[in-house]
Amino acid sequence: MPVTADHDKTHLDTSLCGLIIIQKIEYRCSVKIYEQETKLYKALMHPARLAILDLLRKGEACVCHMEATFKFRQAYISQQLMVLRDAGVVEVRRDGLNIFYRVIRPEIFAVLDAMRTVTGIHPSAARPKQNACTCPNCVSEPVMPRS
Ligand SMILES: [Zn+2]
Repeated sequence: MPVTADHDKTHLDTSLCGLIIIQKIEYRCSVKIYEQETKLYKALMHPARLAILDLLRKGEACVCHMEATFKFRQAYISQQLMVLRDAGVVEVRRDGLNIFYRVIRPEIFAVLDAMRTVTGIHPSAARPKQNACTCPNCVSEPVMPRS
């Protein structure tokens, strides 16, 4: 149905948004639903953010771990994480000097996997390669020399 300002056909409908409203308002309301979805799609629509999400498949990761993995500046990574956080995909946890992120909507991985069936890119080809890292999860407890 085309979006027209003079669409004044009135009818009662409770199917969308659970409200009894005129057609024009009802249409605006249904568009709002797509706006929410668009916000989420926009959050995914960035190569660095897709790479970060792939890294977070394995669980929580420190920002410094992402730095080591992708060789991006911390400010750049934080900027991308902020977008994912605003979209409700990840959440942050601070532990001393370390800042950890984790995915709180793991359903998002099914979306990424579904997209890959369209692009034909095998998930293993897109998984980030791990570089040497000094984050708490990568550095094991130092072994004390025996005296
Ligand atoms: Zn690490």
